[in-house]
Amino acid sequence: MEALTELDIISMLKDSGLRVTPQRIAVLSFMDTHRVHSTADEIYLSLKQEFPSLSAATVYNTLRAFMDAGIVKELRNGDHASRFDINTAIHHHFVCDRCGNMTDVELPEIPVERVAREHHFEVLDYHVEIRGICSACNSETMMH
Ligand SMILES: [Zn+2]
Ligand SMILES: [Zn+2]
Repeated sequence: MEALTELDIISMLKDSGLRVTPQRIAVLSFMDTHRVHSTADEIYLSLKQEFPSLSAATVYNTLRAFMDAGIVKELRNGDHASRFDINTAIHHHFVCDRCGNMTDVELPEIPVERVAREHHFEVLDYHVEIRGICSACNSETMMH
């Protein structure tokens, strides 16, 4: 996937009716270049050098505004902190039980809508989580 330019990000914010601020541009551009499903804290720690006035609360509020506008998805992650995904299309994840990292994974289409119709269930969202141990954690185990 091609990286978003600053102009792309600005029009993304405007199209979603969001105020354009340097912090908001920075959060979206960080999420776009580091497609690692960061936690709010990770985003905050990575950006606070560039924006010394940035607080963790601002990052949380920013992510909340992005979620309300539908340009970012929250991925709840069991006992780990929620991760945030700039990819809002239906897609699936490998989830590492050891470090909590999430990686996008492509799967064939799942007939969720058809099954939901049969059960008169209104689907709001879904994704498949494939749990396991990521390669980084696995190679750490092998070294010990
Ligand atoms: Zn891991
Ligand atoms: Zn994802």
